[in-house]
Amino acid sequence: MCGPMARHRHRGMERRIAVERMTTLFRLAETESLRRHPGRAKRYVELARRIGMRYNVRVPAPFKRSFCKKCLAFLLPSVSARVRIGPGRIVVTCTACGAIQRYPYRREQVTRRASRG
Ligand SMILES: [Zn+2]
Repeated sequence: MCGPMARHRHRGMERRIAVERMTTLFRLAETESLRRHPGRAKRYVELARRIGMRYNVRVPAPFKRSFCKKCLAFLLPSVSARVRIGPGRIVVTCTACGAIQRYPYRREQVTRRASRG
C-alpha cells in the first residue's frame, strides 16, 4: 500500500523560500503582463504554481486572484482581465480564454468616499 508522502521533515525553511520564490515569479509575471507579454507572464505563473505544488504551499495571498484558474494567464485589469464590480461581488473575466471568476467581497473592504464639503 502506498501511503501519503511519508517524510515529515522539518520543512519550514524550504517552504519559506518557496513562498519567496513564488512571490518573485508572480511579480515577474505582473511585469511581463504590463509589457504586453502574456506568454511570458503565463510561464511565470506556471513556474510559481509548480513550486507551490512541490513544496505544498499556497499561492501568496496578494496573488491568489491574480491569475486565471483555467488557462493560468496573469490577470491584470484592463490588460488581460476585465473587472466588474457588482453588488457584493467582483467579476473577473480572463480576456485570454474568457473564463469568469466571481469573488464575493465583504462590506468591510469597501472604502466609502467621505462626503466632500
Ligand atoms: Zn484564462
